[in-house]
This record gives sequence, structure tokens and C-alpha cells, in this order.
Amino acid sequence: MDISDLAERLKAGERRALARAITLVESQKPEHRTGATDLLEAVKDTDREALRIGLSGTPGVGKSTFIEAFGMMLTGQGLRVAVLAVDPSSARSGGSILGDKTRMDRLSREPRAFIRPSPSQTHLGGVARRTREAIDLCEAAGFDVILIETVGVGQSETVVAEMSDLFLLLLAPAGGDELQGVKRGIMEIADLILINKADGDLKATAQRTRADYGGALRLLRKRPQDPEGFPKALTVSAVEESGLGAAWDEMQALADWRRETGHFAGRRAEQARYWFEAEVREGLLARLRREPVRGAMRTLAAQVEAGELTAAAAAEQLLQEYLHTGDRAVAIG
Ligand code: GDP
Repeated sequence: MDISDLAERLKAGERRALARAITLVESQKPEHRTGATDLLEAVKDTDREALRIGLSGTPGVGKSTFIEAFGMMLTGQGLRVAVLAVDPSSARSGGSILGDKTRMDRLSREPRAFIRPSPSQTHLGGVARRTREAIDLCEAAGFDVILIETVGVGQSETVVAEMSDLFLLLLAPAGGDELQGVKRGIMEIADLILINKADGDLKATAQRTRADYGGALRLLRKRPQDPEGFPKALTVSAVEESGLGAAWDEMQALADWRRETGHFAGRRAEQARYWFEAEVREGLLARLRREPVRGAMRTLAAQVEAGELTAAAAAEQLLQEYLHTGDRAVAIG
């Protein structure tokens, strides 16, 4: 495969090139990794900046209905919209909760939209790293808005927040006592809380839920990356397509403020460092699982078991020998 040709076609906005590029970065074959790395390097300097919006919510809250309605509204304004997913359950159970194209029937047929299901990898770290690279590819391909969908499974929300400029939490209308059910951690990473299903019989409950969350958000410590009044809670109805324009206005206002104050770029820089460190950690772990290190570990483990070496001494020996800690590492700086 000619990587520079693929990069050019992707930058020209060709959907097939984008789909192929994402398949390349998602590939688990070691021989594809070099090509993937070269490709990401080749598309790095396009000066394009999409708005990356993370979106989380439990199954049934209305994520796909919302994304479809919201995505159609944006494409109707002439914007290009990509939808990606981080779904660690798809790898574990073989069944995916997210990213099924048929769930977003209209949007999947919209020429200005691109929908990609979650990569299937064996652990969240793998899923997340590949999705983050897919985001870079969508951005280079000229998408204006990139929606990254996830469910509240384990750490997936935190990880998606680390690849988003804005983070939305979708909630269903609920009685006041359910407010505690939302993990504090997720409240702290949300920029907007959208109470969905604010229609019909549920409308009044939705408005009360919004007021409850609005109150709870005001009690949180003010974050430096927020202007006055954020994070905010709003009501929407994905089915009736109401409140979506207002939600988009809030997202743009927040993004503009962060751009003007430098928080937008600052956050992206922090995220780049986060993913660099994650790659190093994962790379080290992968090397430990491969020969000859694996074999050496077995040998040393046997010596530790037999009481011939202490655990610390054996570990140090392995690291010195195979990971070149010490002098060489210093030479990088
Ligand atoms: P997801 O699992 O979070 O992707 O949720 P879905 O989008 O599949 O929606 C789950 C159910 O909630 C479906 O039956 C939807 O029709 C319904 N739903 C989604 N949005 C709304 C809404 O705004 N109002 C109402 N009344 N129902 C909705």
C-alpha cells in the first residue's frame, strides 16, 4: 500500500480513503503498525481543526437518536460530521452496544456524514488508542465536527474525555433521588449535561431533573477551563428534535471561549502528552509479552520462586538487559 498516496486522497476528503486509513490504524497485525504510524505522521500538518465532542450515556438514554438528530441538524448547516465510538463491550462479549450504523439510518445515508463503529480490541486501552487515531484521520479529512460516543462502562468516559474538546453527558428524566446515581467523576468531566426525552409526559420531569443537575453543577469547584455558567444542564428531545440548536449554541460558545483563552490548545497539548505516555506504557507491556523477554521472564521467575534471586533483583536484571534503562535512556534527552 502506498501510504503517501493514501494520505493525499484522505486529505482531499475521499471517504473511501478515510475508511481504508481507519482500517489500517485499527489493524492488529504488527506489520501494519509502521504504515499506520507513517500515515498519521503524513496527515499531521493540515491546519484543520474539528470540534471533537465526546458523548456518554447509559444504554437506552437516547444516544443514537440524539446523534442522528443532532448530526442531521449540523449536516443541514453544511457541516461535515464524523461519528466514532468507544465500546469496550464489543470486544469482550462479541456484541456491540454502540456504533451500529443501522441505528442511525438517516445519518448513515447523508453524504456529509461518516459513521464508524467501535474498533474491536481486547481491552479499553486498545480500543481508545485506535479511536483517538481515527479522530486525527477524520480531522485531516476535513470533518468539522467529530462525535465520539461511549457508554458508561468502566473507565471509558474518562478515556473519551481525553480525546475530546467538549464532553456531553446524556441523561434520562428521573426522580431526585437518582441524582446520586451519577458518578461524581463523570459530573466533573461533563461540560454540558443534556436531559433527553423532554417531551410528552416526561417533559415536566425532565425540567425538574435539569434544575436538580443545574444545582448540583453549581456546587462543583469552578474549573479554569470554564467561563461563567459552565458546566450547564439543558433539556433536549432527540425524538422531537427540540433543544438541539440551543445545545449547539452552548457548545460553540464554550469552544469559542476556550479558543480565545488558550484553554482549547492547552487541553489538546495535555492530551497529546497523555496519549504519548499511554503509548509508551502499552509499548513496554507489549514488549514484555514478546520473546525473548517473555522467555527471560520465565527463567527469572523460576529463580525467584526457588529463592535464588529476590523479586527486586530479578526485575532490575530484566529491565537492565532488555529495556536498556540507564545510560541509553539518558542519551535520548
Ligand atoms: P441509546 O441506547 O442510548 O443509543 O438509545 P436509543 O437512541 O437507541 O434510544 C432508546 C429508546 O429511547 C428508543 O426507543 C428511542 O426511541 C427512545 N428515545 C430516544 N430519544 C428520545 C426522546 O427524545 N424522547 C423520547 N420520548 N424517547 C426517546
